[in-house]
Amino acid sequence: MPDDSAPKGTRMHGFGTRMSHAGRAGTRVHGFVNPPVVRGSTVLYANCADRVASASKRFDQALTYGTQGGPNHHALEDVICEIEGGTRCQIVSTGLAAVTVPLLAFLKAGEHMLMPDSVYGPARAFADGMLARLGIETTFYDPCIDEAGIAALMRPNTTVVYTESPGSHSFEMQDIPAIARAAHAKGAKVLMDNTWGIRHFQPFRHGVDVSIQALTKYVVGHSDVLLGSITVNSDEHWKALRWAALQLGQYASPDDCWLALRGVRTMPVRLEKQAASALEVAAWLAKRPEVLKVLHPALPGAPGHEIWKRDFTGACSLFGVVFRPEFSVEASHAFVDSLTLFGIGASWGGYESLALPTTGFITRSATNGDLGGPTVRLHIGLEDTADLIADIEAGLAVLRGFKG
Ligand SMILES: *Cc1c(COP(=O)(O)O)cnc(C)c1O
Repeated sequence: MPDDSAPKGTRMHGFGTRMSHAGRAGTRVHGFVNPPVVRGSTVLYANCADRVASASKRFDQALTYGTQGGPNHHALEDVICEIEGGTRCQIVSTGLAAVTVPLLAFLKAGEHMLMPDSVYGPARAFADGMLARLGIETTFYDPCIDEAGIAALMRPNTTVVYTESPGSHSFEMQDIPAIARAAHAKGAKVLMDNTWGIRHFQPFRHGVDVSIQALTKYVVGHSDVLLGSITVNSDEHWKALRWAALQLGQYASPDDCWLALRGVRTMPVRLEKQAASALEVAAWLAKRPEVLKVLHPALPGAPGHEIWKRDFTGACSLFGVVFRPEFSVEASHAFVDSLTLFGIGASWGGYESLALPTTGFITRSATNGDLGGPTVRLHIGLEDTADLIADIEAGLAVLRGFKG
């Protein structure tokens, strides 16, 4: 497994240490461990000269007006930069806003974007809806495309190549370095939804220009806050992104940032436990006669495993299970309905397990999207693994016995 430690010759603390110390008050607060919640709209200037000077501070972590962020936003931005390996971060209201804001920042009328067919559904809806209405054309591509494939799809007006690896319902791994080479050869920017790869994929070391996170997932970790982040590693990209976020009035509640900061302190242990548990459940499922295949990139032999091994240092706890085609979609629904420890719900990254039918709920236009049989997405939480496996085992009996 590749390691994510510092380049040779430098000493960097481990991930747990960094998540315990990043974004802490430092000079911002005296005394308490955590920065307090700071709520506010108006920021009072010392004098008129200070007010004039504030205009030039819109790209800094400066207190100039509520929409530009306060201490809670700035602390969270620092933590996300630490996780993603970027230089600057913009916190936005939701993970979906973290998708739409950079698209509006880096695209304009008459331009063309490439987007993977496996993309998060609401991102596809934004491309097909609002972006199309603004005169921006999108071509959806096979997520498993190679460098030559992207090169062939690039047009003179292609300015953004969007990526998401793996797809959050069908788990196709993308060859991000190859896609980035083809995009950069024609001057396009590479945007990536890196929510699945949090902590275990370093986007900027693999050619990504703008990294998107739904903090709603593992950073918040408790299924009670919506939040997004957009991270870059160049001043040029920061200026474009920040200016778009300010023009759009993007903002997140300081209370929510505070909860995300609380969540992230335990993210290293939650992720480690949940990922290990998920891999155990996935390996158990892969041996079951009802299962055609398990869509978990970290599982040896699973689709995309070689790319995962090359580019990722670990995994999260979200994966798919494809049942044999002799089982019906209705039987897979009966399986999901029978589970007692898995909630049926969207989202993921919380402390609790979830199951969600995939078949019939994904849109495809460049590929056929047929995964080979009825498919269910599982999110593994912090419950004891043996209990989850027992629950799934009972569910498989329901699957086998389903008469519909
Ligand atoms: C959940 C999710 C988002 C959006 O996050 P919200 O906070 O729910 O808006 C974006 N991308 C992926 C891959 C997601 O799973």
